[in-house]
Order: sequence, then structure tokens, then C-alpha cells
Amino acid sequence: MNELLENLVKSNKKLTKKGEVASYIPALENANKDDLGICLADLDGNFYTAGDYNKKFTIQSISKTVTLMLAIMDNGEKEVFKKVGMEPTGDAFNSIIKLETTMPSKPLNPMINAGAIVISSLIKGKNKDDKFNRLLDFVRKITRNQNININKEVYLSEKRTGDRNRAMAYFMRDVGIIKGDVEDILDLYFKQCSLEVNCVDIANIGLFLANEGVVPETNEVLANKYITRLVKTFMITCGMYNGSGEFAINVGIPAKSGVGGGILASIPNNMGIGVYGPSLDEKGNSIGGYGILKELSEEKNLSIF
Ligand code: GLN
Repeated sequence: MNELLENLVKSNKKLTKKGEVASYIPALENANKDDLGICLADLDGNFYTAGDYNKKFTIQSISKTVTLMLAIMDNGEKEVFKKVGMEPTGDAFNSIIKLETTMPSKPLNPMINAGAIVISSLIKGKNKDDKFNRLLDFVRKITRNQNININKEVYLSEKRTGDRNRAMAYFMRDVGIIKGDVEDILDLYFKQCSLEVNCVDIANIGLFLANEGVVPETNEVLANKYITRLVKTFMITCGMYNGSGEFAINVGIPAKSGVGGGILASIPNNMGIGVYGPSLDEKGNSIGGYGILKELSEEKNLSIF
């Protein structure tokens, strides 16, 4: 398996030239466009790795899967989906356009920025630090990595420049979808996006989802079958932004990408995969990471459909 992964990294390396590193968050521009790596973790406890699998990157939108689990456990599914929908948008992840035109007014799903900001507003805690610490603790347990922390440079960079997210959040408070201090809610959102991980951490999140909310080895139960099924379903319908339909056809694996270049993939009752390649296609998905997952799925017959 290690050899197959090495070959997939090699054969997809050329794709990295065709994409671009995200630049709308200035600190992300420092990433090395050529980087490409993968970690695959299965439920038998095997880890297979290749390429730049231990390079650190920020989790970005992949965090939306984790905050969704926490928000549902904190509030119940009914409350959460009163404020955010379940439908794909066909628009870019940071699009503002449907916020005003959808009636009743709520973001279409929790995997786009507007929906994820609502989800962050629902995470419980005494204050903003307590809320973030609960999230951090959850992420560290799922990944079995106590060293996970935020990348301060990326966090501050996004906080300074994240006016589109700010605009959506203020609009949503105006129409009553979110309550409370908007800057505090955004602070939590920017922090969750700037959590620094590598492919192994992401593969572990995929494994946790594959294992229906039970952390392998420690056997700690942190979510349940229903919640993890719901997250994996959102990954299929909305996880690759407005490229989700095409990815489902081409690859057939629940996946969630982030503009930091990571893709989280989870194959139910089987394995978790983390890929990293900061060169992105025009929709914001890792161009090399997409290629690796496509070939891996074909080679090992991993499509769930
Ligand atoms: N932090 C990013 C943003 O809010 C996350 C977006 C993403 O990864 N697609 O714009």
C-alpha cells in the first residue's frame, strides 16, 4: 500500500502546477505549491503514508465537519436545523447571494461559510475561550493528537481580512439567525479554521467518522452512528463546495476539503484518508489531492456507490 501511495503522489505531482495556492487569506500564500502527501488509516490500526504527509497546514473548512458534530450534541438536531438547511448550493463556499433570497432566511447547509458560522454560534461554553477549548479538546481526542493548536499567523491574517465572513455574520444577526456577539462568534470560527494539522490528523478524523463516533484504540465514544452518518452525507452532497456532484461521480467517497489544501475522506466502516496539496483548482479544492483520491478510488474500488 505504501508503494501505491508513493506512486499516486508521484503521478499527481504534475497537477500541482495547474492550480494556485489560496491568497485571499494572505498568510496562506506562503504555502509551497508543490507539496503533496497522503495518509490512509484503516480500522485494523494500519497507517500508510506517502509524500508530504507530515507537513503542517491549517484545517480551514474541514473543521466544519467537527463543529457540526459538536453543535448537534450541544443543541440537538432539531434546533440546529432550524437555523441551517440541508441542501447543496451550487455556489462558491463563501458566496453571499442566497442568504437574502432564501426564505425562510437561513444558510443552505453547514458546509458553506455562512452555515458554518451559524454552527459555531451554537457551540456551548461559558465564554469564547471556553467554547474554543471545548472544540480543541474534541479535535485533539478525535485525532489522538494532544499537540494540535492554532496557527496564530493564519488566525490573525484571516481575522484581519475576513470581511466577507464578517458581512455574512452581521447580516445573519440582523435577520435573527445568529444571536450574541458577532465578533466573538467570528473569533471562534477563525480559530477553528486555523487549527494546524497534518495528513495523519485528518486521516484520524476520517477514521473516527468511519468508525461511527468511536475513537479507535482508546474506544472512547465521542459521537454516535447517526451524527457521523449525517456528517458523511453532508460531505457527499456539499463537502467539495460547488464541485461536490462531480467529485461524487468521479471518486464516490464522502470528503471535505479546505482552502489550506487538505481533504478529509472517510469510507464507512473501513478507513480514513487525509490528503494535502495547497495548490487548488478554481473551486478551491486541492488539485493534486483530488487527483490522488480519484486514482486511489479507481485502483482500490473504494467508491461507496
Ligand atoms: N477560513 C476560510 C474562510 O472562511 C475557510 C474556507 C474554506 O476552507 N473553504 O474563508
